[in-house]
Amino acid sequence: MTVYLVGAGPGDPDLLTLKAVKTLKKADVVIYDRLANEKILEHAPQAKFIYVGKKAGEHYKSQEEINQILIREAKNNDIVVRLKGGDPFVFGRGGEEMLALLEEGIRSEIIPGVTSAVGVPTSVGLPVTHRGVATSLTIVTGHEDPTKSDKQVKWDFKADTIIILMGVGRLEDNIREIMKYKDPQTPVCVIEKGTLPDQRIITGILDNIHQKDIKPPALMIIGQVVDIFKKARLKSFKGKKIAITRPIERSKEAIKIIKEYGGEVLVAPTLELVITNTQPLKDLCRKADELDWLIFTSPTAILSLFKHCQDLKSRLNPKCKIAVIGPRTANNLTEYGLEADLIPIDYTAEGLLELFKNIDIKDKKIGLPRTLAARDVLPLGLKKMGAHVFLVEAYKSDLPHDRSQVNQLIKSIINRELDAVTFTSTLTASNLFEMVEGEDKEKLLKPLRSGEVLVAAIGPITSQALEKYNIPTIIPDEYTVKAMLDRLREEMD
Ligand code: SAH
Repeated sequence: MTVYLVGAGPGDPDLLTLKAVKTLKKADVVIYDRLANEKILEHAPQAKFIYVGKKAGEHYKSQEEINQILIREAKNNDIVVRLKGGDPFVFGRGGEEMLALLEEGIRSEIIPGVTSAVGVPTSVGLPVTHRGVATSLTIVTGHEDPTKSDKQVKWDFKADTIIILMGVGRLEDNIREIMKYKDPQTPVCVIEKGTLPDQRIITGILDNIHQKDIKPPALMIIGQVVDIFKKARLKSFKGKKIAITRPIERSKEAIKIIKEYGGEVLVAPTLELVITNTQPLKDLCRKADELDWLIFTSPTAILSLFKHCQDLKSRLNPKCKIAVIGPRTANNLTEYGLEADLIPIDYTAEGLLELFKNIDIKDKKIGLPRTLAARDVLPLGLKKMGAHVFLVEAYKSDLPHDRSQVNQLIKSIINRELDAVTFTSTLTASNLFEMVEGEDKEKLLKPLRSGEVLVAAIGPITSQALEKYNIPTIIPDEYTVKAMLDRLREEMD
């Protein structure tokens, strides 16, 4: 007769150890309780099952009664498995069962399990320790009444990460104790039914986590490591409505990403790009064979130049190099059979200038077809380096002629029906505010300033245009639509 105290893992039946499975296969009896997933019993079809957990309307078996059942079964069977949720010795009273059996001269063997205390946070991508953030960890029961005089738990923990098990019933009391020693702003994460299909994750801070509706079984992780989880979590846009303010023909990528992540899109262009038919553009075409460099700052510039210069590729001086501002423009270029030679790391005019500093462009001829409304940083910078810049208008950026979508956007912001608005250039932002006046403007600015409707900017230049209106923005590290939407997803709760 041997009793195996076996850890059943945190919930997902696949998180069982091989040793547990091997033992279950030879068990005569399996004694299990509430937290052990019943699917695990399928490894022991030959065994008799005894349930000793809580059951609605029935008397809850005391530990003493469970010990007696264990002793009785051990005496009558060869192999008894006592299956316990998580690890048998982490708040599982496994130690008590081991000692009770020993008193009767019954040997027990312990098979460890993945404890929910660590396994549940790990499975969602929440590291319980992290170099430079958390070097120590406390796992504590939240079940004890903190006001009783002979309490064993002292709440003055020094550890960087605190994990509370069995804490749902006394959540408020526990948090109050912890706040005596920890900053009320400390991030908190609660995981309900971890590793199971109906798992729920709730985040907050010490000061507000008690307001959330939490049901057992759940555990709570307190500490800065929660921020790492938040950062790493690939959130979805489910249930979120996000506005795109750039012209529809340039919104395809953003629409695709937002929809891919389950969000709803409102396309409300605040500007309209009109391809111009200017003489200078034709002149540039004629001069194509003299050019040393050609710079495209947007796919629209490429479209426009090729529209007026269909044989650009063959006209272009074979030695002419091409610079673009970002990967989208570079990609677009390949559709016309051309390759970009230069792309800055940070996808800005300043970034491109930085690259040109290492290239001799003195007396070189550079074609720059683009909108004249753009900043003059690039042409000025190139001229300063001694280049001859042919800046020609390739397209105009106007206010949209049809205002119906913009009006819809304004209404949605004022009524807080939107979750976020994205801006990909200074003009998309400034145009919006140019189209509203007086009282409506104040109404529009309020939810944007307060963060009720989040505002994402593709980069710092666009962000500055919004800062003028005192609107806080979310800016990605890399100035692309994808990175901007990734950052936005991180910020959304
Ligand atoms: N021996 C078990 C813990 C038993 S105490 C182990 O090592 O995991 C029971 C507590 O564990 C619950 O109150 C809850 O806080 C936590 N717990 C167990 N399973 C859980 C799960 N799937 N999700 C969240 N918390 C869980």
